[in-house]
Amino acid sequence: MMKWIVLTFGLLLAACEDENPQASNIPKVYDFNLVEVAEGIFVHHGVHALIDDPRHDDIANIGFIVGSQCVAVVDTGGSLAVGEKLRAAIREKTSKPICYVINSHVHFDHILGNAAFRQDKPKFVGHRNLAEAIEQNRDFFLEEFGEDLGKNPTADLIIAPDVLVDDTKEIDLGDRMLILTARPKAHTSADLTVLDKKTNTMWLADLLFMERIPSLDGSLLGWYELMEKLHDESYARVIPGHGPVSAPWSEAMEPQQRYFKVLIDETRKAIADGVFLGDAIKQVARSEQDKWLFFDRLNQRAVSRAYRELEWE
Ligand SMILES: [Zn+2]
Repeated sequence: MMKWIVLTFGLLLAACEDENPQASNIPKVYDFNLVEVAEGIFVHHGVHALIDDPRHDDIANIGFIVGSQCVAVVDTGGSLAVGEKLRAAIREKTSKPICYVINSHVHFDHILGNAAFRQDKPKFVGHRNLAEAIEQNRDFFLEEFGEDLGKNPTADLIIAPDVLVDDTKEIDLGDRMLILTARPKAHTSADLTVLDKKTNTMWLADLLFMERIPSLDGSLLGWYELMEKLHDESYARVIPGHGPVSAPWSEAMEPQQRYFKVLIDETRKAIADGVFLGDAIKQVARSEQDKWLFFDRLNQRAVSRAYRELEWE
């Protein structure tokens, strides 16, 4: 008798699942890692993968900060699915409203999950240049990452900020002030940092790469200079955009600064020696080869960027 009950119950469950195709679309939070790096600050660790890897939508560290009144999301991942998983993970931790979705910069792996939060009607916040940067990239994102935006990808799923940070802006999550700072051209032209005053945690996002070779889309000299400036600040911890979910400042910046210094010095020398770009990309920063993930795939691009920036000095 018991056997029959179990069997019938099993069949009933199976039938219910079949009749509910939505069931498979519910994000599975259990496979979404999340670490509380400081009180009320949760970070999801992105995998180290290249853009042609199926996991390319989940390569960035993203997360959220919980105040007594509401929640601020910091970056939303590289697809609607990752955004939905992040949202589900937030809902497991707290039922407080999601007031802000902050985007650290324009790269797909940090913003394409934004649409998962539309239902919460948050303020979308970014650097003063971010709205325009998203506008310029919208067609490209739709073309390259359309399938990461769900079954019916449309341009309006790529959400630009409605609150722009000119210089600095404080937002209050309830007993918790965040200081948002728009940075000069560095990793990109629209880098924003988020400082949680309560725990002195600095969310640097892609201004800090660890383990994975930094990707340069703004200004090498600008980025180097900004890191030198931040070096003198004292933070309890920083959150890099790629690498561990949290790291001690300022030691965490040392490998990136060393790589930038080599890149700047050797590219300047190549230009001074009359080495053409095609040869320079094979020579510059070879000493860094074993120190970074994806060096062989991405260093040449970095040298090419550095060359074009520094040849105008
Ligand atoms: Zn980036």
